[in-house]
Amino acid sequence: MGLEALLAARAALGASVELRLIAPDREFRHRPMSAASLFRPAPERGVSIAEIAGHAGADPVADSAVAVYEVERQVLTRDGDTVDFDFLLLALGARSRRALRQGHLWQRGGDPSFLDQIISGILAGEVRSVAVAAPRGARWPVPAYELALVLAWTAAGTEARVTLITAEEHPLAALGAEATDLVARELEAAGVTVMGGVEPIDESRDDADPAEPVRLVLAPADPTEMPIGGGSRVGFDRLISLPTVDGPFLAGVKTDAAGFIEVDEGLKVCASERVWAAGGCIAAALELSALGALQADAAIGAIAAAITGTEGDGAAWSSAAPELTGMLLSDQREQWLSENPAGTPQPSTRCLWWPPGRAVGRMLAQQIAAWDPSVHQALPDHTTGLPIHAPVALGCSEPTVGAGAEVTAVDRTARLRDIEQRQLMAITRREHAADAELRALDARLQTLKAHQKAVIGELQQHGYLTHRA
Ligand SMILES: Cc1cc2nc3c(=O)[nH]c(=O)nc-3n(C[C@H](O)[C@H](O)[C@H](O)COP(=O)(O)OP(=O)(O)OC[C@H]3O[C@@H](n4cnc5c(N)ncnc54)[C@H](O)[C@@H]3O)c2cc1C
Repeated sequence: MGLEALLAARAALGASVELRLIAPDREFRHRPMSAASLFRPAPERGVSIAEIAGHAGADPVADSAVAVYEVERQVLTRDGDTVDFDFLLLALGARSRRALRQGHLWQRGGDPSFLDQIISGILAGEVRSVAVAAPRGARWPVPAYELALVLAWTAAGTEARVTLITAEEHPLAALGAEATDLVARELEAAGVTVMGGVEPIDESRDDADPAEPVRLVLAPADPTEMPIGGGSRVGFDRLISLPTVDGPFLAGVKTDAAGFIEVDEGLKVCASERVWAAGGCIAAALELSALGALQADAAIGAIAAAITGTEGDGAAWSSAAPELTGMLLSDQREQWLSENPAGTPQPSTRCLWWPPGRAVGRMLAQQIAAWDPSVHQALPDHTTGLPIHAPVALGCSEPTVGAGAEVTAVDRTARLRDIEQRQLMAITRREHAADAELRALDARLQTLKAHQKAVIGELQQHGYLTHRA
């Protein structure tokens, strides 16, 4: 998101503003969309970060930020240098962390070949039960649903059963009630058992072979509902879990107990005047590349407005808090099976969300496509599904947890629950507003109908209209 923001900043602020990019990596890795298939992203490619910085006319600083001193308007880097700023955008991403020690971890950049082994085990009758777990704080739980569906579709006709374990009270609740209904129907049709509102915990703290059966304790996701004697115990032949994520815990900015940077609705860092943040590093219940890119553009819009003292060019650089937008796909079974027949090495798991893959923002995507002729800008067509426009709840909380303060696992869980609750409240507010709008439209329609009836009656009375026999 930092690169998207850099290009957006140059476009919004013009040539006279000095830009600096603090980034420890040499390369930006991305997987372009495959023009051929809905499910398969093309192999990963790399673009030089220095080249992108050069294109944006920015000075690259190959280092990491370790602290922000807003009063001094300086960023302290890991090498001990300071970088001056008038305005700062933080796009530091989140840090993935294994929540469950047992079983396999499903994460981007990881080796996905264990999925082939699990599928082979299912087809050979050696694997009878597979659980897919989305722990609290997964922030983009859709891959767990995709995995569960893919496994269930493959296991159809075998003895194997697939269970989805999620800390969400209802499947994909953060995307709204219609999304929950749709995905629940898909899971039911595929024969997936859903255990919602539970937090999976390893029964033993010992590291085990990931290709071995697992034993989990399922605790209620709401700790106040914990039964006496702890949660229930379950076992599965195989487990695949998503990681949970932590924030970057950057010193000098307001972070929550999970280390995420707290921002207001305009993406400005809480209790800050000159610092904005976007993407994976901010305190929000949802995280997606396309959403992060919109946030980066919006934050740059807000910075441009702060610099020029105007609201900026609202049409091109809206600084309103972006919403998560996309399609939750349905009825993908046949297409997925035709693209991933039995025995396909590394079957694709993307079957629920469109657009697929890591979208990289309107500025960066165009730039990459201009440099790399093998990158297609055209997306593969989506098929049937539910359009999603989910508000993403942002906001400042109390009390502040400063860098270095002792943060317990309990604080972290409480904070993640708080973010989840705010997201659910934002979704509910949106649903109520939509219902109210529908009722108002309905009332207007009834009024119009009554009016039309009265006019017709009057015209008939005066002989302009006659009843048809
Ligand atoms: C399990 C999981 C699955 C996901 N699947 C998808 C998916 O299928 N599709 C999708 O679109 N999105 C997906 N996402 C979300 C997506 O990966 C993120 O939204 C996106 O990568 C966020 O971009 P970012 O730039 O904020 O962070 P990142 O992509 O993490 O980039 C952060 C950058 O900041 C740099 N950095 C870190 N610390 C510092 C520092 N102190 N100083 C300077 N630089 C620093 C890093 O080196 C890195 O280059 C998934 C997320 C998770 C957790």
